Amino acid sequence: MKVSVSRNQVQSDVVRKVAEISGENLFNCYQCGNCSAGCPSVQEMDLLPSEVVRYLQLGLVEEVKNCKSMWVCAACTMCHARCPKGVDISKIMEALRVLRLREVGAKPRIDVTDFSEEYLERAPQIAMISGYRKFLPL
Ligand code: SF4
Ligand code: SF4
Repeated sequence: MKVSVSRNQVQSDVVRKVAEISGENLFNCYQCGNCSAGCPSVQEMDLLPSEVVRYLQLGLVEEVKNCKSMWVCAACTMCHARCPKGVDISKIMEALRVLRLREVGAKPRIDVTDFSEEYLERAPQIAMISGYRKFLPL
């Protein structure tokens, strides 16, 4: 497949925002594939975690902005633990979700104030926050 890449694409607003929101330097990745090899959710993804980073490095935003992978990512941080360059793809996936939700103006389907204090004290907080961003009417 022939891919054309321009400076404007590589330095696009979306790529800059992904880097800003995630706090990750996308160009630290050298495509070793360790992240994808260890990702427990990869079977359900349409793009490998390393492919998501590669497309962003090349400024090919359209390829990632509707990907299923960002919603399937369980934010388990296995990719970060396996990355020899310390790239945290869970943060990059989260940044992609944030940008997508902003773009469509989605409102959360879950309102935490609907839950009782007793339930919230027992609820797994990471699961709540993770689900909060994902269970949205897109
Ligand atoms: S493990 Fe790190 S360096 Fe290797 S492909 Fe994944 S993000 Fe890139
Ligand atoms: S954080 Fe997401 S991309 Fe990284 S290993 Fe876990 S499920 Fe895969």
